[in-house]
Amino acid sequence: GRPGCECNRCFSGPDCSVRTPNCTADADSGNPLFLEPYWRRHAAASAVVFSGWHRLSYITTGGRFHSVELDRHIRLLHRAVGNAVVDDKYLVFGAGSMQLINALVYALSPDGNADSPPASVVATVPYYPAYKSQTDMFDGREYRWDGTTATWSNNGSRNSTKGFIEFVTSPNNPDTALRKPVLAGSSAIVDHAYYWPHLTHIPAPADEDVMLFTASKLSGHAGSRFGWALIRDEKVAKRALSYVEQSIMGASRDTQLRMLKILKVILANLHGKEDIFAFGYDVMRSRWRRLNAVVSRSTRISLQKIPPQYCTYFNRIKEPSPAYAWVKCEWEEDVDCYETLLAAGIISRSGTLAEAGARYTRMSLLKAQDDFDVLLERITEFVDAEEHGR
Ligand code: PMP
Repeated sequence: GRPGCECNRCFSGPDCSVRTPNCTADADSGNPLFLEPYWRRHAAASAVVFSGWHRLSYITTGGRFHSVELDRHIRLLHRAVGNAVVDDKYLVFGAGSMQLINALVYALSPDGNADSPPASVVATVPYYPAYKSQTDMFDGREYRWDGTTATWSNNGSRNSTKGFIEFVTSPNNPDTALRKPVLAGSSAIVDHAYYWPHLTHIPAPADEDVMLFTASKLSGHAGSRFGWALIRDEKVAKRALSYVEQSIMGASRDTQLRMLKILKVILANLHGKEDIFAFGYDVMRSRWRRLNAVVSRSTRISLQKIPPQYCTYFNRIKEPSPAYAWVKCEWEEDVDCYETLLAAGIISRSGTLAEAGARYTRMSLLKAQDDFDVLLERITEFVDAEEHGR
């Protein structure tokens, strides 16, 4: 049971242990509850309590809206994990990395010059849909959503990719592949939400000009709404900061206090027997193994292939431990894979949202163990039925 939990759809009762029979498995959102057991184990050490008088002010000592201590600890963590070069970067905080998606598009777009054409914002299929929806929502004179990279890299005039802002997600959401920018000369926003050793191997520290990270997939604290950008260029960093200041006057100081505590616990346990990445890796690897064992019996659906890879953080070859299963429906009649799974009692996220077509759909593996267990049950029934039906 999970006392004090927010129950998911298939469970009820005070500790979410009462199972709803024949319930539809919800594998839609990337809600990172797989880390909840870790924080239950470290409940006292990770608690933050502060009194009513504390942190009333808009501004912090030293940095406007920006905790200097939290800044220092984020840099410590990147150095210790080896997943990003931080020494030559500015740090900008946001209310989740969601807010920084548009802050960065704004920061990279042409600056106040009425003559320059709007920047074209693009991404490669399959891509995280928020890049388009955020850009569309704030569509203005300086930038506009301009479709996918395929349009711009295949049309002969491939050298004219200046003025492009390219979203790159690595590991990618939804298919979990490591990626690089595809348009030469574009400004890339490289979203490293999943570039942590529990969700991918880490081949080398990332060192792009504009990188995005989030607490949501690092520690699981999605509800705290905290993300950060690492930015090489001072002017770009200032514009991103100005966006966050104008929209929310800086990331919540309560959130910054909580994140500082969380990072301290993570740092104190790195490479020890309570290492959060070792914990998260074990959970996610085991889910991927179990899912693959079932799906490998199927001719009807398949999953993305991920080889074992060397990880610099763990110092060894690691089995895959991806955040999402990227499912392909192989049978000719299953033209809409989302609908095929829904009929089998599984809610997924259609590949059409990532412009990858209806043959594909994404299943989240990041949720609570209960959610995963129900998902695996439904998938097992689905694959068993296929064998009996033939
Ligand atoms: N980028 C990517 C690639 C994501 O998958 C997500 C969340 N699913 C986000 C950004 C946004 O996360 P948050 O706003 O919680 O930081």
